[in-house]
Amino acid sequence: MFSKILIANRGEIACRVIRTARKMGIKTVAVYSDADTRALHVQQADEAVHIGPSPVGESYLRGDKIIAAALETGAQAIHPGYGFLSENPDFVDAVEAAGLTFIGPSGASIRAMGLKDAAKRLMEKAGVPVVPGYHGEDQGLVLLAGKAKEIGYPVLIKARAGGGGKGMRRVETAEEFAEAMAGARREAKAAFGDDSVLVEKYVDKPRHIEVQVFGDNHGNAVHLFERDCSAQRRHQKVIEEAPAPGMTREMRAAMTAAAVKAAKAIKYSGAGTIEFIVDASDGLKPDRFWFMEMNTRLQVEHPVTEMVTGVDLVEWQLRVAAGEALPKSQNQIALDGHAFEARIYAEDPAKGFLPATGTLHHLQFPPQDTELRVETGVRAGDVISPFYDPMIAKLVVHAGDRTAALQAMDAALAGTQIAGSVTNISFLAALARDADFAAGDVDTGLIGRKQDCLTVSAEPSEKIVALAALVASGARARSAGADPWDAISGYAHFHALARRARLKSGEAAIMAHVAPRADGRFEVSLGENGRTYVLAVPAAGGAADGIGVALWPGHATLFEGGQAYNFAISDPLAQAADAAGGDSMRAPMPGLVKLVRVTAGDAVLKGQPLLVLEAMKMEHTIAASHDGIVADIVAEGAQVTDGTVLVRFVEAEAA
Ligand code: ADP
Ligand code: ADP
Ligand code: MG
Repeated sequence: MFSKILIANRGEIACRVIRTARKMGIKTVAVYSDADTRALHVQQADEAVHIGPSPVGESYLRGDKIIAAALETGAQAIHPGYGFLSENPDFVDAVEAAGLTFIGPSGASIRAMGLKDAAKRLMEKAGVPVVPGYHGEDQGLVLLAGKAKEIGYPVLIKARAGGGGKGMRRVETAEEFAEAMAGARREAKAAFGDDSVLVEKYVDKPRHIEVQVFGDNHGNAVHLFERDCSAQRRHQKVIEEAPAPGMTREMRAAMTAAAVKAAKAIKYSGAGTIEFIVDASDGLKPDRFWFMEMNTRLQVEHPVTEMVTGVDLVEWQLRVAAGEALPKSQNQIALDGHAFEARIYAEDPAKGFLPATGTLHHLQFPPQDTELRVETGVRAGDVISPFYDPMIAKLVVHAGDRTAALQAMDAALAGTQIAGSVTNISFLAALARDADFAAGDVDTGLIGRKQDCLTVSAEPSEKIVALAALVASGARARSAGADPWDAISGYAHFHALARRARLKSGEAAIMAHVAPRADGRFEVSLGENGRTYVLAVPAAGGAADGIGVALWPGHATLFEGGQAYNFAISDPLAQAADAAGGDSMRAPMPGLVKLVRVTAGDAVLKGQPLLVLEAMKMEHTIAASHDGIVADIVAEGAQVTDGTVLVRFVEAEAA
């Protein structure tokens, strides 16, 4: 076995590989770009090597730098993860030429399956059913249009070098064919540098069912059952599961046999996935599934297979790459229960799934155990940058049956709190609760058909708004046994106006009055004649009545049932200034005066920054509440408590 490996990837998959390597006593080397200097995978690895600037073309796709890093650190093998260089046969050749081991299939296997048209021709020859269509070399428009007519509309044009759902066009009629073809070619050329296409029959009521296969260098090949990845949005997987709902014994036997046949046809070694498209218009029928493509790597959704088989696929990858035989034979691999994986992305479902960026100011997952895995490459405070895939985490659950597993998924989603970037969690939760999805009646068009109701943005309840106003007001929880007025000492120095909280939910402005009660709780009344709520301040990062609360710069996010409600808080310091009014400005909270910008005697204008106060780990700029002349200002470095006078102005009459 290797004693040290390098992981040529980032994010959750790099962390995933490190975990198994550590379990097996293998040292790990991470590589990283500028943007990932402090990334989790770098921290978790035993060593890390910087390989270049943030854009992938200058770092994670630089095979030469990665190989140099492996040689330099004495790593014996390279794990490519998924994406990046994982399916690049030239990289495999270069790794081997450098005397290192590639943890994955041979360059020849990747080449054989790399182009969808050639792969289909190969599979056809091996006796594996392939999607009806044209996958020849001739790319003339007239010929292709003729083939489309023969195949019968609707057809799907696919880039032969395609991946990740890109370069595909569904065409309904012959009239639209030429234009769709031009579009598909442009997209394919731009994304893959290859504009060759294939044309396939668009399968009716399509389900995506794939089979996990594993081969070794001793001629063995097995399958580890199927995964259903039919919950897709624009040909991209959203929630995956194993086993496939409604799978019959006959259908499974036929599909897994075809998959093993495909792997054996190319003497496949390592982890691979044979993707099939299934016509489910009349249930699952053994003569209605066809080979689409093979992914010659570990798949994003591999954990669902691990959950139902108990096999650590990364461990198998390492063993096979080190020359060992497969740890188990086919009849030693059994299915147990049901598993789901949901992919949490930084994206905005309400805005057409626009990818988002941002700092994950608050990130909290439910506790992990044998039935719940959280696969992530980020921690609180990390940034989702525009450079890489915006996936934040994968939630993977396992239970005895599909219904129980789906409930566990729903609970796991509801127990996940992310603030600082918008996410697709509410969309995933809505999908998990959808009646057709729950019934296992899923085809690849389900999400598209129901997109409107799966992506409605929920409005916060009045109670949530009141709780947001309470935390936005700056009120703090009372520590046990303390004098209730201590807890609200900030208020003691304020005028009544200071108990006003102003915040925004989207474009809607919210005004609330917050008044302390003798029992340590607060009365929060909304607007002019809104209801009054009696609420306790949740402890930091805590929850009140099952509602989670996170405070982050300028915002509060409240969580309930898989929904995240964001509120922008009007600057509490501006409110403090309002409250102080007149001739002085007071500190609204305890803190450290980091920077003082003006001195006594300076004339200042309303809004001009006077000093910076560091409080609750954040910097707040205190700006002049009105025009005036500074009579007195605190010293830099001073520690102040709430209510301390920060600035005194020369009285207007005297000025
Ligand atoms: P899979 O086929 O494993 O389910 P997807 O279809 O979701 O993966 O991913 C589409 C493509 O994008 C795949 O080639 C995958 O390797 C790549 N990819 C997905 N996520 C990432 C990531 N975080 N980093 C790099 N590549 C990624
Ligand atoms: P990629 O390399 O982008 O993953 P695939 O060939 O695997 O491309 O197809 C991606 C998705 O597109 C499939 O999961 C499926 O939902 C859909 N798809 C592909 N081929 C067909 C087809 N012939 N009929 C219907 N849907 C298809
Ligand atoms: Mg695919």
